[in-house]
Amino acid sequence: MPYDPQPQASHFVNGAYVEDTAGTPFDVIYPATDEVIATLHEATSAIIEQAISSAKAAQKAWGAMSGTERGRILRRAADIIRERNHDLSVLETKDTGKPYSETFYVDATSGADALEYFGGLAGSLTGEHIQLGDDWVYTRREPLGLCVGIGAWNYPTQIACWKGAPALACGNAMVFKPSETTPLSALKVAEILHEAGLPAGLYNVIQGAGTVGAALVSDARVDKVSLTGSVPTGRKVYAAAAADIKHVTMELGGKSPLIIFDDADLENAVGGAILANFYSSGQVCSNGTRVFVQKGIKEAFLKRLAERLETAVIGDPLDEATNFGPMVSRRQMEIVQGYIAKGQEEGARLVTGGERLDGDGFYLQPTVFADVSDDMTIAREEIFGPVMAVLDFETEEEVVARANETEFGLSAGVFTRDLSRGHRVIGQMEAGSCFINSYNDAPVEAPFGGSKLSGVGRENSKAAIEHYSQLKSVYVRMGNVEAPF
Ligand code: NAD
Repeated sequence: MPYDPQPQASHFVNGAYVEDTAGTPFDVIYPATDEVIATLHEATSAIIEQAISSAKAAQKAWGAMSGTERGRILRRAADIIRERNHDLSVLETKDTGKPYSETFYVDATSGADALEYFGGLAGSLTGEHIQLGDDWVYTRREPLGLCVGIGAWNYPTQIACWKGAPALACGNAMVFKPSETTPLSALKVAEILHEAGLPAGLYNVIQGAGTVGAALVSDARVDKVSLTGSVPTGRKVYAAAAADIKHVTMELGGKSPLIIFDDADLENAVGGAILANFYSSGQVCSNGTRVFVQKGIKEAFLKRLAERLETAVIGDPLDEATNFGPMVSRRQMEIVQGYIAKGQEEGARLVTGGERLDGDGFYLQPTVFADVSDDMTIAREEIFGPVMAVLDFETEEEVVARANETEFGLSAGVFTRDLSRGHRVIGQMEAGSCFINSYNDAPVEAPFGGSKLSGVGRENSKAAIEHYSQLKSVYVRMGNVEAPF
């Protein structure tokens, strides 16, 4: 059969596409045109049951395989993803509205990186030997069992792989529920994993909104839940998982500070602030949306920023020249428009942008507010759109305190030519994923995740292994047992 770049049904369960038209239908919208590109069905309880029971049945044999054998399948899947990067990137662009000039370089390829990295690591997962005189303890690194992954809509392929790759490498099965806003690409990840040799049932994808996610999280057969989403959803999922003391990873929202000192290289600082606010039209959890600029460089920074934003190519996301696309949905666009209005009402100075573009697509201009104060709504709440808030500061001590004055703790960045100051400031940031003279890099080799309300656990890197496996320690006595009676 020729390769079909579209998913063939709503769900992928037990090694095959499945449809159950009894599930509530929902449309997938192309954000650039507001057109319906697919209609899927939410998972019924029958589909949820098939997904959980087939995953549970497949996991034992998978967990008993050698890590090298498991890893080979993951690495093969990574190769297939890279071969099909064009088709997968087009699908991701249609699903999310993100420009092809981004999806081609970042989305499927970062998924492939995760499969390759954890595939490579799988064969080296071991316990340890602890000598205690003549006796000894050894530890076994064992799978957790059945993991549930729940995704947000901004990086659908990446999230499906960032959760699936370490889970599978450690010998677990996964049931993954993508966001109902962007449900398509995770199905292709499942299809490709099975084409690469993954036994049926080990990576199932089922569709639906929060109710389907909640049904998965509350199922007693599930051992671990990894969520990428907002803080309110995180609270609900964490609480539901607590009922059975399930393991959790929470990758939640942020309102991260980006601190620019007077001595920073201006072009790099402006470039960093652009990457920290306007990539994926601002729909990135780790974005540095509170940009603290030291007074001496402020006007030069704003001038250069406005000049560079003028050169953004906003338009058809499938056109390779476009580098700024629409919001993922009408709802998200309206939420962001509400924040732009709030910024103006509360007295922030609109430097550039602020408007919706004409047409049916959900396009908003890249928007910059200056003279923002710490108590304004746009400086406190996660907007998840292309809205940068520029705040002034004078001293290092002051900016460190203000930067940490938030309930979130996902990321933080600093631009300065003084490297001691760079390390000193980052050392004091209450955040999990930080940057010095850079912003928003997320290589698979580095731990990614937040502190405070931004989450628990880490994705990527060797650290993720701790969150998808558990240790069993075995005490071995070589001599006689001495009991008191
Ligand atoms: P969301 O919280 O609305 O939804 C996330 C997922 O949870 C969706 O799949 C949704 O269907 C599901 N869900 C909703 N209610 C549920 C429930 N009660 N039980 C189980 N599942 C439920 O988030 P979103 O709008 O899709 O994504 C945007 C948010 O995600 C932002 O806050 C952003 O910061 C965050 N995010 C975080 C990261 C990270 O790695 N830290 C990455 C991307 C996005």
